[in-house]
Amino acid sequence: MPRYAHQAKKRFGQHFLHDRNIIDKMLRALSLQPTDRVVEIGPGPGALTFPLLEMLPRLDVVEIDRDVIAWWQEQPQAQGKLHIHAQDALKLDIPGLRGDSEPLRLIGNLPYNISTPLIFHFLQHREHIRDMLFMLQKEVVDRITAEPNSKDYSRLSVMVQYYCETHYLLKIGPGAFSPPPKVDSAVVYLKPWATPPYVAKDEAQFGKLVAQAFSQRRKTLRNTLKELLTAEQMESVGIDPTRRAETLSGEDFVNLANLL
Ligand code: SAH
Repeated sequence: MPRYAHQAKKRFGQHFLHDRNIIDKMLRALSLQPTDRVVEIGPGPGALTFPLLEMLPRLDVVEIDRDVIAWWQEQPQAQGKLHIHAQDALKLDIPGLRGDSEPLRLIGNLPYNISTPLIFHFLQHREHIRDMLFMLQKEVVDRITAEPNSKDYSRLSVMVQYYCETHYLLKIGPGAFSPPPKVDSAVVYLKPWATPPYVAKDEAQFGKLVAQAFSQRRKTLRNTLKELLTAEQMESVGIDPTRRAETLSGEDFVNLANLL
């Protein structure tokens, strides 16, 4: 794989993937068609980008590191195909990028230091997104895909699962990257629901209630939600106020939020 001579920058969460087998598995998981509108977040030196350029007539990438951007501008494989958005992915204008085209397919080995806010940014614009395939810190993928009553079940599980179907695809050790990160990584596939299984009347209220319920994991709902709901209200939707947030399904949270 082509390499450019540049030191990985910690502040941009740069850990470059070099394991061909993992790269192939990620790309196969997408079953790409040449007509797909693909956007890669953080191409770096191109572990995913070069194979994507071979499969697609057009590829959009979002990259913050100016050295990486300058290097891409000189790559012959990029000419006429690669559309570089030289900016912070947290500020990416998703509706603008989609324009009149098909909903976007997002892919990336995300900078781990901003992966959660990035996912929330994308979820806000989910009507413009067909699906997302991300390499993340394994601990974050564990939380995204966790079921109720497990130790990883958290605000992130409830919120991401409210908006998307989630699939844990594969676990990857630090050795697949250079420099190796201190943590394990994993690949998650997220697909915004075509028909959401349950719908909150007010999503802002729902988000607030979920955050409040998980603010103190060990405490009962009667305690954590006392400023929002009475014990009687919780019982009216079949939820015992002595339960803890980690025992509630997404639908339970929606039923509680719909009382607000
Ligand atoms: N996809 C490459 C690089 C992954 S490292 C590979 O797998 O090898 C993460 C990449 O995201 C780096 O290229 C880094 O410069 C870029 N990046 C970090 N913060 C970013 C941000 N806020 N917006 C866009 N790109 C960012």
